[in-house]
Amino acid sequence: MPQQLDTAPANVSRSQPSAQHIADLLATHTADLSWQQAFYDVLHEHPELSHQEERTAGAIQSALQRFDVEVTTDIGGHGIVAVMRNEATSNTPTALMRADFDALFVDGKNLHACGHDMHTTALLGALAILDSLREHWAGTVIALFQPAEESSIGAKLMIEDGLVDKIPAPDVCLGQHVMPGRAGEVQTRRGPLMAGCDSIKVTIFGKSAHASMPHKSIDPTYTAAMIVTRLQAIVGREVAPDEFFVISVGTLRSGDTNNIIPDRAELVLNTRYYDEELAERVYAALKRVVQAEVQASGSTKEPEFHFYAHGEVVDNNEAVFDRVRGTFDATFGEHSVTAQRSTVSEDFTYLPKAWNVPYLFWFVGSTPRQLWDEAAARGTIDTDVPVNHQANFVPEYEPTVHATTLAGAGALLSFVAI
Ligand SMILES: [Zn+2]
Ligand SMILES: [Zn+2]
Repeated sequence: MPQQLDTAPANVSRSQPSAQHIADLLATHTADLSWQQAFYDVLHEHPELSHQEERTAGAIQSALQRFDVEVTTDIGGHGIVAVMRNEATSNTPTALMRADFDALFVDGKNLHACGHDMHTTALLGALAILDSLREHWAGTVIALFQPAEESSIGAKLMIEDGLVDKIPAPDVCLGQHVMPGRAGEVQTRRGPLMAGCDSIKVTIFGKSAHASMPHKSIDPTYTAAMIVTRLQAIVGREVAPDEFFVISVGTLRSGDTNNIIPDRAELVLNTRYYDEELAERVYAALKRVVQAEVQASGSTKEPEFHFYAHGEVVDNNEAVFDRVRGTFDATFGEHSVTAQRSTVSEDFTYLPKAWNVPYLFWFVGSTPRQLWDEAAARGTIDTDVPVNHQANFVPEYEPTVHATTLAGAGALLSFVAI
């Protein structure tokens, strides 16, 4: 039986056909997907960096011409949204799926080293499947193609450019990412999947003096060293052993010559977590520790804290997970597995938050199967399997495009099928 959503509007809570029915539709669809390889090759061979994805956006717009969709372009830069309506009324559900399409600069050249070209190829393929199954669903499907994911602001820029007023409001948002894992393996997880993150610039002030006369200084380098040491005591002594928190010192700057004790030091910290409340607790402790060390040094000037580059936790809604996981289990069988949590971050969540709707984000394994199986047999997956942002992170095309395309179509059908 389908699960009822606990937080979604009524549109998504109506009764649904079984997961097996959706799996049967996916197994017998007649959509032509033969164009996918050529489309993927064009994107893969012409990777464009965040905010410069002009040619890629043009290729997506051309590909969308094969479907009966309403297309809006140039949202927040090169963002594109395609709306596919099918027997849509005010009582039918609206499901949004997002694919990103920017590339990275790695080892001296532009590369699709995060697999966003695959996400986009898959979302277009999912539209083709939905288009071929129109008698089996009713509602509105929104395909959102997002630029500038790697700079973490592409989703925000689309929202700031009026996205919410340009398209129908979705009842649910969906997204996926290729990851290390046996190619074609669909990895889902209830609750937190990807970490939240912050960067924090901490500036502490002392008193400058000649290096030969430390008694006339308040040495901020010494104070900074004490702070670096005590930071890990917050994680080690104040965070419970079964909770996850990482705080790393990215940069530490103090002084610029050999014989002067400087008057200030600057630390840039980076954090990762799956629980926003825990992050607030750690930040309160961080301020307490820094202020106490500054006071212990005898400095009277208050330290300064600047928080930036915030990334939200990707925290999957349980009811959406239950419904889509059912579809994935019926569709992929033993290749539908539980995802490991990842400490990397994503800007996807800004989209569902723009409408305050539930969401599911999942991973699809893309590691060439032979490479994966050999590394698994040797017990060397951690060292031998390329990860996202490495130049040799290249999905095995056929199993990955098949799984990402079916996963996209299946997740959408989980909400609009009749
Ligand atoms: Zn990336
Ligand atoms: Zn990515």
